Amino acid sequence: MKLGVSSCLIGTMCRYDGTNSKDGFITNILQEYFEFVPYCPEKMIFSTPREAIRLVNIKDEIRVVTSNTKKDVTEELKNISQVCIEQMQKDELCGFILKSKSPTCGLERVKVYQEVEAPSEKKGVGVFAEKIKENFPLLPVEEEGRLNDPWLRENFLMQIFAYKHLFEFLKSNPSFKELVEFHTSYKYLIYSKSQSSYKELGNIVANHDKNSIEEVLALYKVAFLEAISQKGSISKTYNVLLHILGYFKKLISKEEKQEMLEAMEEFKEEIIPLIAVIKLLNIYTKRFNLEYLLQQKFLNPYPKELALRSTVKAYK
Ligand code: SF4
Repeated sequence: MKLGVSSCLIGTMCRYDGTNSKDGFITNILQEYFEFVPYCPEKMIFSTPREAIRLVNIKDEIRVVTSNTKKDVTEELKNISQVCIEQMQKDELCGFILKSKSPTCGLERVKVYQEVEAPSEKKGVGVFAEKIKENFPLLPVEEEGRLNDPWLRENFLMQIFAYKHLFEFLKSNPSFKELVEFHTSYKYLIYSKSQSSYKELGNIVANHDKNSIEEVLALYKVAFLEAISQKGSISKTYNVLLHILGYFKKLISKEEKQEMLEAMEEFKEEIIPLIAVIKLLNIYTKRFNLEYLLQQKFLNPYPKELALRSTVKAYK
């Protein structure tokens, strides 16, 4: 799986001062699962080390200016960012992790300075990051700093794996029957983000207008990518757990059901992590060989070694 990254995050000495911003989570953990494709627009046009650049509000227009010599490099940076975007089209990425706070790569809250002596405001977006958002609005994109939040981290990785799965599925030239199977396997994962999105996807799959498979897949792709870009919550996840428990109602004893309900309540009250409840559900799913649940991505959305559901902080 190819993951785009700001080069400095994986240890490339490409920052303005010749250092890097190596990130442990990316280089120690994610590197097991992804092939990194590094991008550094600044390094492509300026030498390293170089003068720092910053976003400056000049007559209500955000420009990129060198810190000391006050040279306006906005157009150069925009042009090279466009070159990177064209490269991204070819690279078939399944997500991107950007370096926070950078006037080039920062996704949000980048410092914007004033022309005159006045406090800076954290309201800018880096030039390259802006282009990524414009050109790939449904690509999973995050900053390394935000990924320290277990909730954002879990949501982002769940989104990446689903994104990748969808593109692989589309490449296989699926039939209507295969689309139904794909859609069904994402039922509870999408429920954990938005029940109405799953309904919308269901209407596309039902194909009341008798469109061709190509037209249906094109509609499905956009709606699916929008659905997985939404964030999950404790209450939506709790509802999914209740739905899943319904499949065992007549198969397990009263005591076992009570035990499950208690575990779900403890998840809801942030006493135990989701993985503890999922473990129990997976045991019953396998014991009773419940085909419908065995295929549910919600129960196994990404490699378990990532341990993203192992903290109560992964859900809000
Ligand atoms: S933040 Fe972006 S532009 Fe700056 S050094 Fe890192 S990769 Fe290069």
